[in-house]
Amino acid sequence: MNHIHDDFDREHLWHPYTGTRNPLPTYKVSGAEGAEIILADGRRLIDGMSSWWCAIHGYNHPVLNAAAERQLKSMSHVMFGGLTHEPAIELGKLLLSILPPSINHIFYADSGSVATEVAMKMAVQAQNDPRRTDFATIRNGYHGDTWNAMSVCDPVTGMHGAFGKALPVRFFADAPSCRFGDEWNPADFEPMRKLVEENKDTLAAVILEPVVQGAGGMRFYHPQYLRELRALCDKYGILLIFDEIATGFGRTGRLFAWEHAGVEPDIMLIGKALTGGYMTFAAVCATKKVAEMISDSQASVMMHGPTFMGNPLACAVGHASVELLLSQDWQKRVAEIESIMKEHLAPARKLKNVADVRVLGAIGVVELTHDVNLAEFQKRCVEKGVWIRPFGRNAYIMPPFMAVSDEQVIALCKALVELVEEEG
Ligand SMILES: *Cc1c(COP(=O)(O)O)cnc(C)c1O
Repeated sequence: MNHIHDDFDREHLWHPYTGTRNPLPTYKVSGAEGAEIILADGRRLIDGMSSWWCAIHGYNHPVLNAAAERQLKSMSHVMFGGLTHEPAIELGKLLLSILPPSINHIFYADSGSVATEVAMKMAVQAQNDPRRTDFATIRNGYHGDTWNAMSVCDPVTGMHGAFGKALPVRFFADAPSCRFGDEWNPADFEPMRKLVEENKDTLAAVILEPVVQGAGGMRFYHPQYLRELRALCDKYGILLIFDEIATGFGRTGRLFAWEHAGVEPDIMLIGKALTGGYMTFAAVCATKKVAEMISDSQASVMMHGPTFMGNPLACAVGHASVELLLSQDWQKRVAEIESIMKEHLAPARKLKNVADVRVLGAIGVVELTHDVNLAEFQKRCVEKGVWIRPFGRNAYIMPPFMAVSDEQVIALCKALVELVEEEG
């Protein structure tokens, strides 16, 4: 029998946010199928994470496998400088048919963090004004782990403490406190209004995650905030960037979260579920106005061009994933999962160590009153046959919504409530 912990791994491989001295345990996986992760010892875990928002169709999907195999047989990669190909063109056409109507130009990037970098460079280039180089955002955000992305992550739950002056300084407004579904309170927007008005001549853009704040806090806020923000940015010629890397492709009950508010960004980022979780890929999508501002600028071209830009394999799988999603009644499925989660996570409200329970689309969050003991929590997860990885005080589930059965969603909810109760 294979072991589920590996000595080489423990001694030589870094994992996300872990040290090398007494690292948190890792579990060895031998495969994954549908909504299940298969451990090296044969045990099967119901996946509650979609590998961090990505695997919306589940694992080892025949349609996505076939798309990858087809593409491999012609080419897995060619440079995008001076060359182009059907996978990039077909994916672009499909994306433009589902993105906000004013989006007209696409920049393919390697990962979500790179997409954030590109979007911020795009905003500065488009403004073409040496004074307009600052960025504002809201607290509790998450935009990735590279320098500029980190600089707009929440200064507390992000990594600002570890990097000090190495990080560019940004402007932070308190995150909206009005929750999704509650009545709008105009006072909620005042911190952002004040911040923008004080810095209206130096801001290139405001960047934030629309409606759902992911890794930085798992919060769902009122869409009216985005309508106010759009109007304010327009008033002062500040660009608005929506980071939909986590929220895109159906997760919140709409294809993209901007639709909850009905206001369009100038630049929108997509990634994660774009390839159905098959490989790293992202896109920075911009309006014609932004593209023209860059064309009119001093440099006149977009100053970025990664080696693996427009990777054909990723484009082909991305196209297959989006097409597969659109061919199914995903909206109905997400709504069903939302109502199952609402019902089966509700018992957690009564627990004394629970501060809040919230559900939106295929995202269910149980917020504790204190940080979860991660190593212990995950050990008990595996014993219960589920895969859930809390962050800080938030224990949450966001299963592969096109692959999980009702029974699997119920099992995830029950396990989560039990795990939180056992946390004490
Ligand atoms: C995950 C995430 C990113 C970063 O994407 P990577 O592919 O991990 O670099 C950026 N923004 C949001 C909202 C994310 O959830």
